[in-house]
Amino acid sequence: GKPICECYSCYGGPDCSLFFPNCPVNVESGDPLFLEPFWIQNAASSAVVVAGWHRMSYSFPNQSHISKELEKSIRKIHAIAKNAITDGRYIVFGVGSTQLLNAAVHALSMEKPSSSFPAKVVAKIPYYRPYKLQTEFFQTLHYEFEGDSSILRNKSDFAGVVIEFVTSPNNPDGNLRSPVLKGPNVKTIYDHAYYWPHYTAIPAPADKDLMLFSISKLTGHAGSRFGWAIVKDVNVYKRMMDYIVLAEMGFSKDTQLRALTLLKVVAQGNGKQIFNFGHEIMRDRWEKMSHVFSLSKRFRLQSIPTQYCTFLDRTREPSPGYAWVKCKRKEDKNCTQVFRVAKIIGRPGSKFFAKNRYVRLSLLKGQHDFEMLIRRLKQLVSREDEEG
Ligand code: PMP
Repeated sequence: GKPICECYSCYGGPDCSLFFPNCPVNVESGDPLFLEPFWIQNAASSAVVVAGWHRMSYSFPNQSHISKELEKSIRKIHAIAKNAITDGRYIVFGVGSTQLLNAAVHALSMEKPSSSFPAKVVAKIPYYRPYKLQTEFFQTLHYEFEGDSSILRNKSDFAGVVIEFVTSPNNPDGNLRSPVLKGPNVKTIYDHAYYWPHYTAIPAPADKDLMLFSISKLTGHAGSRFGWAIVKDVNVYKRMMDYIVLAEMGFSKDTQLRALTLLKVVAQGNGKQIFNFGHEIMRDRWEKMSHVFSLSKRFRLQSIPTQYCTFLDRTREPSPGYAWVKCKRKEDKNCTQVFRVAKIIGRPGSKFFAKNRYVRLSLLKGQHDFEMLIRRLKQLVSREDEEG
């Protein structure tokens, strides 16, 4: 059992100690609980205690001591992970990187020569669904969601700004990506939520104009809602700040304090512990997944090339956060349903604007969930021949 009721799948009851052996394993969400054991090992140094009278006043960005310390920690961790250049860049905090998605769209849509056209926002399929949902929800005179990036590839006649989301590594398939669109009017938002040594080779530090990162996939604290943007251009930075200040009236000091405490633990010693820990788990999980699916004729796992990693200083095998599985049989049009029958809950391909012949299975959850996932997958694959 666990002391606080944030139960693993198939556990319930007031202290999560009741086990339901036949319930489905839920690997639908990207909750990064695989990092929980790291924080159990660092329980004392990562604890945050705040007296009731502490840090009561409003906090405007970049003014408080804590924001400056947090910025310093962020820069230090990027230097350790070798995954982003931060020198001479501005940093904007957000309520998760989720809030920064739209802050970035807002800021870039105001770039010239947009004035007479709404900027068109695109992403390459399969892509992370909130890009579309958020852009449509918040849509203004300045921007609208257009769809798949390739729609605009041959439309060089469009005179307005185009904003492309580039998710690298991609959610759902874990591959490093480059923009589909290029040109003077194309602005790119690099979503690097998974650009950490846990999940991917780091071929070079990212050095783009606008990059988004998040504590959710770095430390696993998705519930703290803390992300940041690294921004080259001062005007884009100012517009993103305006957005955050208007939306939030500053930025939660409690969140900053928790993030700072966690990041200080991450940076301890040579700062490589959490990356080695995360990478080791994810690599092991991928190996097990690949093995199970290598025995299958019915399903196909995505392929990710081995690549040189400057963090590990060697070529490395893939270790993505998700399995992106294709059901190959003609009749298996609803792949999620095939897995659901086998008591595995995944996220359908259509939620990434791909075919439902695909399903995403999360490899980020707690060890117990992962083990149950593997057990069920083995059963499913071993029954393939009987089912014909
Ligand atoms: N971008 C991508 C590609 C993601 O997968 C996620 C989380 N699932 C996010 C952004 C948002 O993360 P958060 O708001 O927790 O920082």
